[in-house]
Amino acid sequence: MELDFIHTICPYCGTGCGVDLVVKDGTLVGTNPFKRHPVNEGKTCIKGSYCHEFVHRDDRLKTPLIRKNGELVEASWDEALELISGKLQNYSPEEVGFFSSARCTNEDNYVFQKFARTVIKTNNVDHCARLCHSATVVGLGQAFGSGAMTNSISDIEDADCIFIIGSNTFEQHPLIARRVVRAKEKGTKIIVIDPRYTPTAKQADLYLQLLPGTNIAVLNAIMHVLVKENLVDEEFIKNRTKGYEELKTTLETYTPEYASKLSGVAPELIVEAAKMYGSANAASILYCMGITQFTTGVNNVKSCCNLAMITGNIGKPGTGVNPLRGQNNVQGACDMGALPNVFPGYQAVPANHEKYAEAWNTCVDPNVGLSIPDMLAKAGEQVKCIYVMGENPMVSDPDIHHVEHALKSLDLLIVQDIFLTETAQVADVVLPGASWAEKDGTFSNTERRIQKINKAVDSPGEAIADWKIVKMLAEKMGQGELFNFETPEEVFQEIAKVTPQYAGVTYERLGVDGLHWPCKTCEDPGTPILHCEKCLTPDGLGNIFAIDYADPDEMADSEYPMTLTTGRIIFHYHTGTMTRRSKHMADEINEGFVEIHPEDAEKMGIKNKQKVKVSTRRGEVVVNAKITPNIKQGVVFMPFHFAETAANILTNPAQDPNCKIPEYKVCAAKVEKI
Ligand code: SF4
Repeated sequence: MELDFIHTICPYCGTGCGVDLVVKDGTLVGTNPFKRHPVNEGKTCIKGSYCHEFVHRDDRLKTPLIRKNGELVEASWDEALELISGKLQNYSPEEVGFFSSARCTNEDNYVFQKFARTVIKTNNVDHCARLCHSATVVGLGQAFGSGAMTNSISDIEDADCIFIIGSNTFEQHPLIARRVVRAKEKGTKIIVIDPRYTPTAKQADLYLQLLPGTNIAVLNAIMHVLVKENLVDEEFIKNRTKGYEELKTTLETYTPEYASKLSGVAPELIVEAAKMYGSANAASILYCMGITQFTTGVNNVKSCCNLAMITGNIGKPGTGVNPLRGQNNVQGACDMGALPNVFPGYQAVPANHEKYAEAWNTCVDPNVGLSIPDMLAKAGEQVKCIYVMGENPMVSDPDIHHVEHALKSLDLLIVQDIFLTETAQVADVVLPGASWAEKDGTFSNTERRIQKINKAVDSPGEAIADWKIVKMLAEKMGQGELFNFETPEEVFQEIAKVTPQYAGVTYERLGVDGLHWPCKTCEDPGTPILHCEKCLTPDGLGNIFAIDYADPDEMADSEYPMTLTTGRIIFHYHTGTMTRRSKHMADEINEGFVEIHPEDAEKMGIKNKQKVKVSTRRGEVVVNAKITPNIKQGVVFMPFHFAETAANILTNPAQDPNCKIPEYKVCAAKVEKI
């Protein structure tokens, strides 16, 4: 039997590596890295190498399920859609909420938010960017006028200094880390700032181990030294920015010694980092959720922007402020307007509601909708129904006991997914979606590269592509004319019409390399580097902000003396729905752990691999201890992939008031041997 090789994009992290799915007799039998792909150049990480393994699992959802007498039982599509349609017609718009998906295609997300906005007439639509990079969207947006990575992945190799803060790039974005390694081989200096001595930190020329939540203190102190040592770019500051004088005044307080008291980083390391970054001709900042997931997430992002702007590291090769997006299409889900305050293309609500009413030929809600945390907070009261597409808040959201209570208090919970996730298990109706290998469409990766994905195999049972399910529901509700699409390409044609950054993009133009947005006309080759001549702000200037350090919401105290931080490991992806069903990944590691520093462990009488109880003000989890010198003393770390030892039972839902991102990365905790 002959093998077919279907080119597509890895479904895991936001790097967006090109792969070929190997198909034999209608079945996926392997994954090959795509040799000529501009992002990964013929390599994949371990997750990507086995990304086909979950697709044909026996436990895929194959028919709709409806809860009857407390049990989820199989139902026909007609029965399930009839039930949902009947219920939805009885709610007012503000009573319904939508969780869109960073795992689904642009086409799925576009159709889903359009359904919320045109059929239900609500802007209550959000997705998990709220929980990972909403601080990026707001912070970069305020500083530069666009909330996306400023430079491209390949561009990282052009830097003389790479400044990595709050990102374990080598485990979370391995094919971006490969660019860091190649730059290092050419002599680029690497600075890593992280509470854990991660595989990324081990590659650094200079490593600063800070306490979780003290990024601003360290960044301000680095900028204090830059000003003092005259390592700032006066020309760039004068011609391209505003707000520098106010920042300069704020920085006076942040001597390296003062920042050291707050962060635990030695003053001489802060000085060295400033000199290394400040003396580079081109310096690139990479950051991830170690910057965003704080009650000060937006200010953390803006501090990174300050650092880049005062040294002139914007708008040139090898520079920039580069958020590394966690999920395959979290950039695209944001671009598609799966957010409560913007329509597709970041067109603000309410300023653009008439424009979209005209484009969609129906009235739309002029009011900003609810975010995910707000929908959960109002569940059972204002919010009666939530429709979740391809998300798993029962594992991914902070304070899971509260999430469970919220979801169970709804009148109707609809979950559309490929497996019976922890969230689907508490749903009233479950709809079986097609996996990425079973559909055509596009993903937009972390560097704003729009890429085509291609169907390799058929869906199991009665599973259907997500956009098509939503269209079927709209038809059932008598609104089918709003979704007059027969193919994902037709959906994309409408996306290009209403999303300015995508206006010049067609499936045909995407080819294998894709296109970087903004790509505004058919002749536009796309934009790998933003802000070259001027920023995308209304006046074209970059906004520098004077930002002071503020403590995290919860600090270690006598009752909870440790600081808990959370994150990912290389073998698993997000809530583990796919990787824990992938044999090679599950064989590597399939249970949670808590990292404890040897001196802390000795004080608590805890041995390696011993079961311990980790508790916070929200709950407790029993998990294996992993004693390692790679964690800062006084800090403990848990991965959040494992539902049985869910780190998010413990995490703090306190939010950044500017973007509502929860403070996953720091809370007060207690560890006890049991
Ligand atoms: Fe997939 Fe990310 Fe690994 Fe690339 S780096 S193969 S996109 S998981």
